[in-house]
Amino acid sequence: MSSLTKDHVLEALRTVPDPRGGGDLVSTGAVRSAAACDGFISVGLALAEGEVHEVRARVDSAVRQRAASLGAPVRQLTIERAASTVRQPEGVPMKQGASSPTVKSGSAQPGSPSVRARHIIAVGAGKGGVGKSTVSVNLAVGLARAGHSVGLLDGDIYGPSVPTLMGLDGQDAQMRGTMLQPFIAHGVRTMTIGKLVDPEKPLIWRGPMAHGAFKQLVEQTSWGELDYLIVDLPPGTGDVSLTMAQMLAVSGAVIVCTPQRVAQDDAVRAARMFQALNIPVLGVVENMSYFVGDDGKEYDLFGRGGAEQMAQRLGLAFLGGVPIHTALRVSSDAGDPTANFTGGAALRDALERMVRRVEDEVALASLRSGAGGPVLTVS
Ligand code: ADP
Repeated sequence: MSSLTKDHVLEALRTVPDPRGGGDLVSTGAVRSAAACDGFISVGLALAEGEVHEVRARVDSAVRQRAASLGAPVRQLTIERAASTVRQPEGVPMKQGASSPTVKSGSAQPGSPSVRARHIIAVGAGKGGVGKSTVSVNLAVGLARAGHSVGLLDGDIYGPSVPTLMGLDGQDAQMRGTMLQPFIAHGVRTMTIGKLVDPEKPLIWRGPMAHGAFKQLVEQTSWGELDYLIVDLPPGTGDVSLTMAQMLAVSGAVIVCTPQRVAQDDAVRAARMFQALNIPVLGVVENMSYFVGDDGKEYDLFGRGGAEQMAQRLGLAFLGGVPIHTALRVSSDAGDPTANFTGGAALRDALERMVRRVEDEVALASLRSGAGGPVLTVS
């Protein structure tokens, strides 16, 4: 039996006029996300609530007709209002529940009542230095730029990079009562142990202390309501991942890998760890996939496609490649990830593609697990 793909869904959406006029839903950019897997289909529309209501029946019938023409089953079809693509001004606290009414309270398990996040995404890597924190930061900033309310938890308690990557140098930690206030930078609510300890002090944690440090960052931060919480994990397969899995209802994990064979081997171990912890793996990002020179040409340095092939081998989704780019290194050192989305097209396009792929995979993971609970569900 054939199954519906994302392209089929987009084909169907091209037959539905945008209620605001100007063409079909795809050509006007009203389709924020579309995903299909095993008969679970999700469509996110960047429209006002009334407009979604107006087109819902047509979208539903267009997708079902396309599925019927292929003889493909529709197990669940979700049409929801996605946040608009308007950029949130930097430094302004995100609107509570930007894409509400889909904000779901208490998706974290009991024991972590301070996190009310619709989706929690862990970012892991088999080894250090592959760009895990860089991907976490740019994923968080990209989602915030897409209008979501986003938190970034620097779970890499052994080597926190987030203070530098997010440019938190000028900000001091603030307490209100017994709760830490998240740092707000690039439209993202951020917490990191790197701002709570002496930056030059070695961070040595025994197992139980690592557990306690992570738990405190989660529970003693006033996160507010979030669409996404991104958790930047330490490299490898250690205590913090275990603590996270016990404390938080994680929607899925993103694995960051460079193309080389040694990085792939470790990434496979990371994937197996998430599976053992019952955390679905959303897919693999290939960082340092290729080099973009000043001449704009792409050069293959490390064996482009290696991580993609690994993802295929493991049956995991490929979430895109991020090039090695001098501009990315410079903006990371300067703590200015926003520059990655406002500068050259090569970097911006790669990062925006990755953000969209992650959004799609999270939507599917929520459907499969029956979580997420968007209100505009038809089945
Ligand atoms: P990890 O979290 O895996 O240890 P980081 O994200 O801290 O790795 O990245 C290590 C260094 O490599 C940082 O200085 C970062 O700016 C740089 N870097 C990561 N990815 C890229 C890239 N695609 N292009 C250029 N520099 C990168």
